[in-house]
Amino acid sequence: MTIKKRIVIWYTIWMAFLVIIASVILFSASGIFARREALSDLEEVVHDAREDIYVRDGRIWTDDLDFFDDGVYLSIWQNSEMIMGLLPEDAPSSPFVNGVFQYPESEKGSWYYLDLELGAETFVRGVFRAYDMGTFVSSMQVLLLILLPFVVLLAALGGYIIVRRSFKPADAVIATAGEIADSDDLSKRIGLGNGNDEIHDMASAFDSMMDRIESAFEKEKQFTSDASHELRTPIAVILAEAEYASSHTADEDKMKDSLAVISHQGEKMSRLVSELLTIARSDKGTLKLHPEFFDLGELGEMTLSAMEDQAEKKGITLSLKAEKDMIVEADQSMIARVIINFVANAINYGRNNGWVILRITQKSGMAVIAVEDNGIGISRDHLERIWDRFYQVDSSRSMDSSGAGLGLSIVKEIVTAHGGSVSVESIEGLGSIFTAEIPMRQNK
Ligand code: ADP
Repeated sequence: MTIKKRIVIWYTIWMAFLVIIASVILFSASGIFARREALSDLEEVVHDAREDIYVRDGRIWTDDLDFFDDGVYLSIWQNSEMIMGLLPEDAPSSPFVNGVFQYPESEKGSWYYLDLELGAETFVRGVFRAYDMGTFVSSMQVLLLILLPFVVLLAALGGYIIVRRSFKPADAVIATAGEIADSDDLSKRIGLGNGNDEIHDMASAFDSMMDRIESAFEKEKQFTSDASHELRTPIAVILAEAEYASSHTADEDKMKDSLAVISHQGEKMSRLVSELLTIARSDKGTLKLHPEFFDLGELGEMTLSAMEDQAEKKGITLSLKAEKDMIVEADQSMIARVIINFVANAINYGRNNGWVILRITQKSGMAVIAVEDNGIGISRDHLERIWDRFYQVDSSRSMDSSGAGLGLSIVKEIVTAHGGSVSVESIEGLGSIFTAEIPMRQNK
């Protein structure tokens, strides 16, 4: 059963129940009020009448007394005989009791009596035909029985209209979700606009979830296409060189050259594949850190000496300025990768015979790794995007065209995984400073 039907049924049952309860309360309350009203009228009329009746020497006078007033019949009795007044024919007889209400019953109904003594064995009697509550209630019951189906029908109809109107946006959500499932079109949105009910909230939550899914999906697609594009070039080179070498088997030098090219391209592919793997792991959230305590200064020194040869090829001087005893808790091999990527870029985009300085310092609980060069620098337009995957300012600027624009994005991911942040300052033509800050200790 749909939620709509359930709500309407519940609402209708409750409505009918409430109408019945309210009617029962109303009937009984009105019965009580009617009786109280009748008794007070009776009392008033009889008391007023007594004021207008005079008894002297056993004889009785009245001052223009109205013997039927406000539904009350008045009669004057002496020695149990009615002397004057009015009395309904079917009123039952009843003994005289001074000042006390009596409730005699006859076949035709019930009555209220009130007698007041005027003198010896002389009474004025007020008689009121009690309103027949039994008939009233049963006629109301009939009315209720006729009205109830209409009330229930109206309640059900009204309830259904309100529920249907309120659930209309939910139908839009279902329809849009269905369209997305059928067409694989992630750009579809419900677009209900502003509204302050839960279903509008749900629709806008759905839309913003779709925004995120779409952008994640687009990123994924872009990543796959960039990755295949980057792999296609070295593969094409390898195939071409292999073909060239196989058609020049007689010429050993040509074959050696081709093999060197193939090996270089193979290395490039291997590096690229390992970078892609790191990125895929970090996307899956499986870039696991293995934090350990080590001296960051020592790590910097080891890394620089391993890159000495590379720097020498361009006549670049590498130097280290590290604070003493920079013991940090971090994933050593990943931090080494950060330093390698920064320094490799500084050499790659550095000036021939230039310099590269690696500074390792600490600042309010953070270890700061900064790599400064006096290389070609980066223009302001590109600065913001260089941390993006596959983003290269201009691949022809690089001496060694082995990069695929992943180095800095990997640095950013590693540093972020450590709870740190990256930044860059650069002036085109003058040089750059790349900085990574990581907490000295990892929060567990
Ligand atoms: P790759 O070096 O493989 O192209 P990166 O992600 O390491 O990719 O760097 C992105 C871009 O940032 C590079 O293409 C390069 O143009 C620029 N860049 C990085 N480091 C430097 C630097 N030290 N000096 C000048 N430009 C740099």
